[in-house]
Amino acid sequence: MTRIAHDRGDSIAPGEWFGLLGGGQLGRMFCMAAQRLGYKVAVLDPSDDSPAGSVADRHLRADYLDPSALAELARLCRAATTEFENVPAPALEVLARDARVAPTASSVAIAQDRISEKTFLSGHGFGVAPFGVLRSVEDARSAAPQLLPGIVKSARFGYDGKGQIRVSTVDEAADAFVAMRGAACILERFVSLACEVSVIVARNERGETTTWPVAENHHRNGILDMTIAPGRVSAALEQRARQIATDVATALDYRGVLCVEMFVTATDDLLVNEIAPRPHNSGHYTIDACVTSQFEQQARVLADLPLGDPSQHTPAVMVNLLGDIWFDDSEAPAPREPEWRQILVHPRAKLHLYGKALPRRGRKMGHVTCLGATLDEALATARAIRAALSIPAANGG
Ligand code: AMP
Repeated sequence: MTRIAHDRGDSIAPGEWFGLLGGGQLGRMFCMAAQRLGYKVAVLDPSDDSPAGSVADRHLRADYLDPSALAELARLCRAATTEFENVPAPALEVLARDARVAPTASSVAIAQDRISEKTFLSGHGFGVAPFGVLRSVEDARSAAPQLLPGIVKSARFGYDGKGQIRVSTVDEAADAFVAMRGAACILERFVSLACEVSVIVARNERGETTTWPVAENHHRNGILDMTIAPGRVSAALEQRARQIATDVATALDYRGVLCVEMFVTATDDLLVNEIAPRPHNSGHYTIDACVTSQFEQQARVLADLPLGDPSQHTPAVMVNLLGDIWFDDSEAPAPREPEWRQILVHPRAKLHLYGKALPRRGRKMGHVTCLGATLDEALATARAIRAALSIPAANGG
């Protein structure tokens, strides 16, 4: 990382308040990082069972567009951020009248909608899987043959593989469009993948950027299962991936922390799959394995403090802990607390639980970051923990 000259013009000093839209685990880890730097955080989230709300200095339990809650947040906070991309853009716009808001409503709006996201990316010359827009059954029936076999993905509110249907023919694409209840979709060509990676990038108001190492991601049922960092990719690919992430952030004139998820194709091309305008599950390892975590960097950008060093000091493997491990087997009706000792017995395994009251299958309840002197050592710890907690062996890990 190049050292960055910094004037202290608009910095927000520790002791001041940040506002956070969204109360999930990403928000919880942001709160903790911001509080460690001496800031106070007010969370706006409608739910009672809020991982971030329970650690925040204040929890405003209200809808994201509730005018009095937004007014209170604006009165209290010098700067505001979000922890999920489906935050209503108008909420960010209201806050931006009085406070520094990062990311901006315009960046969030692009990432919220696959059509605008893919159009933005391809329009700026970034490689993406070939895609077409479906707004009607006729669009699906007349889809270009080179988009098949493909995946119909809902344009909005799709995450963790939800709102996606694999299709092989135009008739199947039409059926998938109907199954999505006529909501706008994209049809994306199914690409043969060598692996999936992500790069998290932070960018501040002056356009200064830092990137973390390429993370190698393994999914199960469309949900991130395991992240290996640094990813097992060539130095050339690492450099290309980091450059793409930096260039995407620059093209968006982005403020804050952005995750750029990419496909590595069988021919070693990098295609941008999605962008997430916030810290990302694939960057959780940065808390334990990097000099500066993605959450601390989010706070630094928000306060306009100098960016921290993102270097990774220890190889790491992050395993997501889903609600499934609260259930003995598919028949078990009642959840029971997993044996956390089976993780903590490994001295280099770092357990993070999000304080969610209700475990459900597929729900992200926590994660464990396995550190190692080498990546193989970290992988061996991850495998041992998975076996002990009956988490199925990772795809490709
Ligand atoms: P997404 O919600 O778009 O990130 O998709 C969820 C997962 O589905 C990805 O992480 C990939 O494993 C897979 N996937 C999505 N789109 C494609 C594609 N065009 N070709 C192959 N696999 C895909």
